[in-house]
Amino acid sequence: MHLEPILQLETDVCIVGGGVMGAATAYAISRMTEKKIILLDRYGVGNEYCSSNDVNRVFRYAYGNDPYYTKMAIESLGLWKEIEKESRQELLIPTGLLMLEGDDQQANEFNESSFGTLTKLGLGAKLYEGPELKKRFPQFRTRRGFLDPHGGVLLASKSLETMASQARAKGARILEKHVTAFRDRSGLEIETSEGQTIRTQKLVVTVGPWSNGFLKDGLTGITPTRQQVVYLRPSGDIEKFRPTSCPVFFTDHHYGLPAAGIDGVKISNKELIDPVDPETASRLVDREQIEQCKAACRKFIPDLADGEVVKSKVCFYDMTTNSDFVIDQDPEDSDVVYGYGFSGHGFKFAPLVGKLLAELVLDREPSFDLTRFSSRNSHRKPQVTRGHLGKGE
Ligand SMILES: Cc1cc2nc3c(=O)[nH]c(=O)nc-3n(C[C@H](O)[C@H](O)[C@H](O)COP(=O)(O)OP(=O)(O)OC[C@H]3O[C@@H](n4cnc5c(N)ncnc54)[C@H](O)[C@@H]3O)c2cc1C
Repeated sequence: MHLEPILQLETDVCIVGGGVMGAATAYAISRMTEKKIILLDRYGVGNEYCSSNDVNRVFRYAYGNDPYYTKMAIESLGLWKEIEKESRQELLIPTGLLMLEGDDQQANEFNESSFGTLTKLGLGAKLYEGPELKKRFPQFRTRRGFLDPHGGVLLASKSLETMASQARAKGARILEKHVTAFRDRSGLEIETSEGQTIRTQKLVVTVGPWSNGFLKDGLTGITPTRQQVVYLRPSGDIEKFRPTSCPVFFTDHHYGLPAAGIDGVKISNKELIDPVDPETASRLVDREQIEQCKAACRKFIPDLADGEVVKSKVCFYDMTTNSDFVIDQDPEDSDVVYGYGFSGHGFKFAPLVGKLLAELVLDREPSFDLTRFSSRNSHRKPQVTRGHLGKGE
């Protein structure tokens, strides 16, 4: 009987997971070296199931009283600008982030501490009150608002595609493959659901909400949570909600983005934590969530309260217990590198995460302190309180 030979591929670096972090890593490695790269995704790079696939995402410097993430965002902004220049694509639209004062004490504390941190770092935060607020941001109803002038809208799917195509242009191979196992005996071997084997020098795992299936005991796990987003077309003039006039905004329990890349303003609950299995969770938005988004608008952004839903979407956060990422080599095998646990606020850092993962792959000293992002459970800070959920987005 004649058997078809099983495909064997060889490469220097194999990246499993083609969301934004896998694409950013392929891009970074392809810029830094001539190494052979294969990027694999079970549904194809940038597919509609991954957490990175949406019209837009928030960029911000505001991180409460946690200047570490603010410093990462500053670093990341420089890299976003480099990608834009290299690709000649607009990916990050500056709008500012307006944090609206409401009735939730923790949200108000987050806003005020963000203002304090940005002011201390000389990053030009601004407080708007009363008539001045109304004049400058007529879309919103509240007493006061803090502006992070560095906030903006990232065109998410476009950014992912751009990084993947820049990597492809430099020789990276991008394949639709479902990885079922990897092992390191006399060299790393990756197995696919079709029975193929890929031999590689280095492996990068960036599978987001699916990470637990790839982790050994003792490594930091994640909880995938189901998140729901709604895009509402304002009942009045949509131009008031374009990025030229409308900032990204936070209310008590929701966040929103101006109508960028779509004729709708995105609204989502920033605190909904609904643990699920990514293989089986419903991908349909609940009626109740749409009503909650509209209720928040009724209070803070009246023009959106009766807005038509132009798009809705479910995707997953990959939450670690303290919302800190994992960017690390495997403690027992430095040829395996992990990037996961981006906990609902990772997109803005993608170019920096890609660069840091590339440095780990190439055994270079990371250009940012990574002690906080250890893959070892025992090395991580204890669980934090609800106040830190302000990190979402
Ligand atoms: C609703 C929502 C809103 C968000 N808003 C913001 C925001 O405003 N600002 C911000 O900074 N961040 C935000 N985030 C977070 C950010 O989008 C994520 O941190 C980021 O997209 C995670 O990217 P990733 O590449 O790690 O994971 P993913 O994008 O999920 O990619 C993982 C990939 O791995 C693939 N995969 C899984 N298993 C396998 C396997 N066995 N073999 C091969 N491939 C596999 C999957 O198909 C998938 O494509 C938000 C997230 C969500 C869900």
